[in-house]
Amino acid sequence: NKPPLLISACLLGQPVRYDGHGKALPASDLFELTRRYQLLSICPECQGGLPTPHPAAEISGGDGSDVLDGHARVITQTGQDVSCAFIDGARQALNSAIQHGCRQALLKANSPSCGNRQIYSGHFDQQLQPGSGVTAALLQRHNIIVSNENEMNGLLLGTKQQP
Ligand code: SF4
Repeated sequence: NKPPLLISACLLGQPVRYDGHGKALPASDLFELTRRYQLLSICPECQGGLPTPHPAAEISGGDGSDVLDGHARVITQTGQDVSCAFIDGARQALNSAIQHGCRQALLKANSPSCGNRQIYSGHFDQQLQPGSGVTAALLQRHNIIVSNENEMNGLLLGTKQQP
């Protein structure tokens, strides 16, 4: 049995990003991941109820962990507060992980939902800063190991190849 791996739907090429596009991994990486894992596709922003496309959003006043604690907000450039949708999507991602006994996730870097190491500053100035997106933060709180698409070596080396 292949171990389950939560994966951002956009990395599978699904056109679910805020701009209506996907961001597919190279076919060779997708092939290797599929050989090794049972891939569980998630898109927290879609599952939280945001339409595709939707206005870009950034975390203001902290990171995803602060959003979960009510100390920061996710806002669009026009100031709309979309924190509830982001938190709802994060909870659904966590539920999927728990349901499937999933201990690892491969999530899109730098996203206000999925980013595991960096997020944009909250000022819409293209500047990245350390921190996790809302979903990545919730998964990390529950001891799920979150990697991004630039850190796939561990995922590809860490599991025995399927025959
Ligand atoms: Fe959905 Fe996450 Fe990809 Fe954004 S980064 S489109 S929330 S899966």
